[in-house]
Amino acid sequence: MTDLIPRLWSRFNPIEHPQAFLDVLLVTLLFFWFLEMMQGTRAVRALRGVFILLVIAMMISTVSPGLTTLNWLLRTAIYPAIVVAILILFQPELRRALERLGRTSNLLNHPLKYTNRVDMLETVNGVSRAVAQLSKQSIGALIIIERGTRLQEYAERGVILDARLAVPLLLNIFYPNSPLHDMAVIIRENRILAANVVLPLSEDIVGHRRFGTRHRAAKGMSEHTDAVVVVVSEETGTISLVHDGRMTSYLNETRLRHMLAQLLNVPLEDPPA
Ligand code: ATP
Ligand code: MG
Repeated sequence: MTDLIPRLWSRFNPIEHPQAFLDVLLVTLLFFWFLEMMQGTRAVRALRGVFILLVIAMMISTVSPGLTTLNWLLRTAIYPAIVVAILILFQPELRRALERLGRTSNLLNHPLKYTNRVDMLETVNGVSRAVAQLSKQSIGALIIIERGTRLQEYAERGVILDARLAVPLLLNIFYPNSPLHDMAVIIRENRILAANVVLPLSEDIVGHRRFGTRHRAAKGMSEHTDAVVVVVSEETGTISLVHDGRMTSYLNETRLRHMLAQLLNVPLEDPPA
């Protein structure tokens, strides 16, 4: 046991065995990337289940190599089944990861995408200000801000506005009983692209606080696209921000403004007057 470290060192010494070292490094990175991707999602719980199953299966086959039929079953059925289960269970996460990968290369094709910082700053300030006011009055709101993924397809399910973003206009849209107050608003750069947009609901409701449909729609949208979503709860006035399937709640105007600026890649100047 005491010679374990020197033994491992002699096997994975990067100078003598650069390939073994690279092998371990790549597997470590792969695991890190996988766990980071799963963090905070429903998949973590499922992953624990899969892990327990795997440990039980491995224990059975090491403790009792004599149980040939059982071992055969494990090898031919259980292990492949676990691989398929992982693909099915983590389908939303895997798809999001692949989409993210695709977007990284897309950025090269759209150099204009993030360049208009002045427009985006207008959006960051306008949305934060409007949301703070809506929160004070406990008016429910759902605002989607487009990033790399084009949201045209979603926008067209609602009412296209294509109007310059302004705080009074946003307030007006969400005001109760206004014809457009229901569902979500989509913002592209400094324009309100559409209102009254129906979004996909997140399936991920296990273990979370009791989510209503507004919050599920917010989460759903952030799982399907890279959009940044801001929600105001009608029941509590709570402001939440959702991106990549993760929700941060109990924000105030300043905190929201900073988080939006960071996610939208806009350097913040002095606070708005
Ligand atoms: P709140 O905290 O504001 O009550 P909630 O998460 O509890 O929010 P609900 O009370 O169910 O959710 O909110 C209902 C509202 O959510 C609807 O009036 C509608 O505006 C919005 N909503 C429901 N489904 C969708 C959807 N698929 N896409 C966009 N908005 C939706
Ligand atoms: Mg509710």
